[in-house]
Amino acid sequence: MIDPMLPGALNPKPLPPLINPDAPSTPAKELFARKSTPFPGPPRSIGGDFGGCLAGAVSLPMTGPTWQVMRPSRNRNWGNPQLIRFIERLATNAKKVGWSGLLVGDMSQARGGPMLSEHTSHQIGLDVDIWFTPMPDRDQSRDEREFSSATDVVAADLRDVDPEVWTLKHTALIRTAAQDPIVVRVLVNAAIKKALCREAGAGRTWLYKVRPWYGHAEHFHVQIACPADSTECKPPAPPLPRDGCDSELDFWFKESTLHPLPSKPKPALTLGGLPPACKQIVKAP
Ligand SMILES: [Zn+2]
Repeated sequence: MIDPMLPGALNPKPLPPLINPDAPSTPAKELFARKSTPFPGPPRSIGGDFGGCLAGAVSLPMTGPTWQVMRPSRNRNWGNPQLIRFIERLATNAKKVGWSGLLVGDMSQARGGPMLSEHTSHQIGLDVDIWFTPMPDRDQSRDEREFSSATDVVAADLRDVDPEVWTLKHTALIRTAAQDPIVVRVLVNAAIKKALCREAGAGRTWLYKVRPWYGHAEHFHVQIACPADSTECKPPAPPLPRDGCDSELDFWFKESTLHPLPSKPKPALTLGGLPPACKQIVKAP
């Protein structure tokens, strides 16, 4: 798994041109990574978690009243307009539960699609990573945004959160995200899910949406629903109607899950593996 929090660069070098961009074997991520501007027209989130793209993307401003975009050199602060509105709303609502502001990690590329860093989802402009580091009360420099590291909230043995860094405000932040009606799924490290189960109290329906996943110890991942006007959008399977706090968690604390053996890399996705509309979107100037 590639660390999604890898540092950026102050003067990112443009990617070299592809020798044979039209070859059917060209990985789609190489094509999408070379498009730094959105495909014009109405917003369309096309495809799903494991293959798709985005038209009519808009960018989240680098700095808002209650958020700051991190790793700006990646140019991944693009999304469906619905995602932009959700992030603005979350930043405001999080402030009400004591969270100083959002540090925003990866959203999508300007035309969505697979990313060079093997980040599998985030292809259709409906996903955002939010850091567990609270926003400082000053506008961070470009240098800080590219190189400062995110706070890992999981204990060294991976079996619970780290009590030195985890706070009830983290719980309130994740609950605030999950309670937004547009959110369909929140992914966190299993140690965090365990802490949320413990700290959730009586109203627990929001926990259904919060699912354990590998990594996600320095950030959580939020996915919003397919917008009604994105008819080519494939929604993820709906969450099971239970909080997932019982034996379902056991799998995640097995030794083989905590320390998985390296798996064989999957062959890179090509345009042939994406919805046909994505070819036109990535090939357009
Ligand atoms: Zn993510």
